[in-house]
Amino acid sequence: MASQQKPGRAVSRRHVLRSGAAALGGSAAFLAGGGAAAQNAQAPAVLTGTQTGRTFRGLVRHDSTLDVQELRLLPIDARQVVIRSQAVAPCYTIVRGALGTNTTRRPEVPNHCGFGVVEGVGAMVKRVQVGDRVVVAGTSQCGQCYQCLQGRPDYCQFTFFSNAPGVEAFPPFAEMRDGTRVYAQAGIGGMSEIMTAFEEYCVPIFSDLPAAELTLLGDQLASGFAAGHAEMHFQPGCDVVIFGAGPVGVGAIQAGRVTGAGQVIAIDPIKYRREFALKMGATLALDPVAEGDGLVERVRELCRGPNDRRFAGGVSWGRAGNAVMARGADFVVEAAGFQAFPPKAEPQPDPTNVRTVQQAWDCTRMGGHVMLMGFTLQPVSFPGPALALLGRTIHPGQQGGLHVMRDIPRYVKLIEKGAIDAKSMITKRYTLAESRQAVQDSADRTIMTGVIEFA
Ligand SMILES: [Zn+2]
Ligand SMILES: [Zn+2]
Repeated sequence: MASQQKPGRAVSRRHVLRSGAAALGGSAAFLAGGGAAAQNAQAPAVLTGTQTGRTFRGLVRHDSTLDVQELRLLPIDARQVVIRSQAVAPCYTIVRGALGTNTTRRPEVPNHCGFGVVEGVGAMVKRVQVGDRVVVAGTSQCGQCYQCLQGRPDYCQFTFFSNAPGVEAFPPFAEMRDGTRVYAQAGIGGMSEIMTAFEEYCVPIFSDLPAAELTLLGDQLASGFAAGHAEMHFQPGCDVVIFGAGPVGVGAIQAGRVTGAGQVIAIDPIKYRREFALKMGATLALDPVAEGDGLVERVRELCRGPNDRRFAGGVSWGRAGNAVMARGADFVVEAAGFQAFPPKAEPQPDPTNVRTVQQAWDCTRMGGHVMLMGFTLQPVSFPGPALALLGRTIHPGQQGGLHVMRDIPRYVKLIEKGAIDAKSMITKRYTLAESRQAVQDSADRTIMTGVIEFA
């Protein structure tokens, strides 16, 4: 994984040569923003410098605590953007790290997405300008790495660069009063009044929609919708099953509704989430605890189609074995995920999520499509012959296959025309001072999506 460092730096050096800013040194240099921008045809209209030294507040996980700290901005990289945050929705993925009581490796502002207004840009930033409203997405799209060139920007190597063990991909972006350096989680953070993000993660938004709705396109809602739209390509009239009716799962449910799926079956142990799923487009909501061991068979029955006749398009004709293999949903999304903490709502039947992943696969018909988004931290086993021969296509769940620069602007239009309902997803709003509680409520699963709005 460490070798991923090379392409990232090679790209950045090539950028430098092209723009004529030869000042960048051999390693990841920190340039003062502004100077070289005048040489660039797509340079921002307003030069603001790096904003270095400005103070702001942010939620910081440090030592064994999580609290709001006063921070001071450090110099930005030539390709970084300074963003004044307007709204952010903490992702369930972060709750384990954020609320843990172990001593952290380094102080960090949690989360991996956000939304705000650009207030400063490094000298080489091209994609956004000062004054732009931007979604900072959980995945980058650089357009130049191997994955982007293969048409897989959902695996943009700029994003995965940050996950390489032992590699300090992103510099600290701020310091606390005592000078302790503070990092942004995944190079993004989001739960602070100021974010700095590399331009590869920034998607400019040309819309007047409220920040609280647009911030949902940085991660959960966009990822869930992309599962159906961008990666699996739900078809009108098809049968869709969604495990987990949280913020991601409901995004996928909305993709089912927008696509005109025949059935959208939501599966979640939490009663208010099943009720919410029905409002957002699910045609049926099942409780996996009540269904117990019969869950997979129940879904297969629901997806058996209107007839069993071989020559009339019947799904489940033939001998018993064939009939069972043939039945199931056309598209299944596993968006339940493992349980980081015991919730205050109804708990998952399997907190590790291993069983849910297997059930998602089992609920998919031969030749159907299944996406594993929520995942488990444990090994999962599948029956070998069936895995090889029964034709379920397993789709990777990394942001649902979202191509951020292509898809987020499309989803903005769908919110504007009322096709995607972002507003109803927001079930509680918080101030920055209440941001720790927002993370706690997410961990407790007492809310659908909490949004922190910055003053
Ligand atoms: Zn996330
Ligand atoms: Zn890329």
